[in-house]
Amino acid sequence: MIFLKTDDEIELLRQSNLLVGKTLAELAKVIKPGVTTKELDKVAEEYIRDNGATPTFKGFPNFKGASFPASICTSVNEQVVHGIPSDVVLKDGDIVSVDCGTYMNGFCGDSAYTFPVGEVSDSVLHLLKTTKEALYKGIENAVSGKRLGDIGSAVQEYCENESFGVVREFVGHGIGKEMHEDPMVPNYGKRGNGILLKNGLCIAIEPMITLGDRHIVMERDGWTVRTVDHSCAAHFEHTIAIRKGKADILSSFKFVEEVLGEKAI
Ligand code: MG
Ligand code: MG
Repeated sequence: MIFLKTDDEIELLRQSNLLVGKTLAELAKVIKPGVTTKELDKVAEEYIRDNGATPTFKGFPNFKGASFPASICTSVNEQVVHGIPSDVVLKDGDIVSVDCGTYMNGFCGDSAYTFPVGEVSDSVLHLLKTTKEALYKGIENAVSGKRLGDIGSAVQEYCENESFGVVREFVGHGIGKEMHEDPMVPNYGKRGNGILLKNGLCIAIEPMITLGDRHIVMERDGWTVRTVDHSCAAHFEHTIAIRKGKADILSSFKFVEEVLGEKAI
C-alpha cells in the first residue's frame, strides 16, 4: 500500500533527510587512508543522537531476523550495499559507500554517497561519477504523470551505455514513517511501465552500479552484498518527494560536497 504524504509530512521527512546529509558530511571530514569503518560508525551514531534523532539502521532486522549491528552501512570496493562497519582499515585507492538512515519527528531519512579514499583509479572515478549522474537521471523522471518504469529505465540506460552493470536484486523504495514502504523502485525497467507517479509520493532512488558483471552474492554474515566477480560497486541515494508535479530532493549532498571540495564526485 502506497501512502502519499501531505506537505507537512514532507517537511518532516526533509528535516530527517537533511540530518542524514549533515551526518554524511561529518564522515566526509574523517574518511581518509588509515581510518576504520567502525570509527566512521561511531562518528555517525554520535552525530545523529546529538541531533535528537536515532539511527534507523541499528537493530534493523534482516531476512533471518538478525539485527543490523551498526548505525551506518559501509560497503568497501566490491561490496555493493549493507556492509557492516568493522576494524578493516581504509587504504589509498579504496572506495567506501556510506548509507545512512535517521528517524526524527516520526519520519525517516535515507541517503547514501560513495567516497573515494585518497586517490582512486580513473576507471573507478568514472564509475562513481556515472552512478551519481544516473541517480539524477532517475530523479529527472520522478515527476507526476510519468511512471515508475521511467525512473528505472533512465538509470539503467545511462549506466549500461557506459558498459556498467546494474544490480537488480536490491532496489529503492517508498519512504515515510517507515524506512521501507511501497512501492519498490528498481534501477531498471521499461519506459511507460509501472505505477503512475503522483504528488505526495516519497521514494528513495538508489542506483547500485558495478564496474564489471552485475551479479551479486550475499556474504555469510547475512548482510554484506558483494559483486560475484569482485569488481568495484558504487551506490548513491537520495530521498525525494513529488510535489507540485516535480521531484523535490529532500536529502542533500551539499554538506558533503562542501567538505570534499574538488574531490566531490
Ligand atoms: Mg539507504
Ligand atoms: Mg534506501
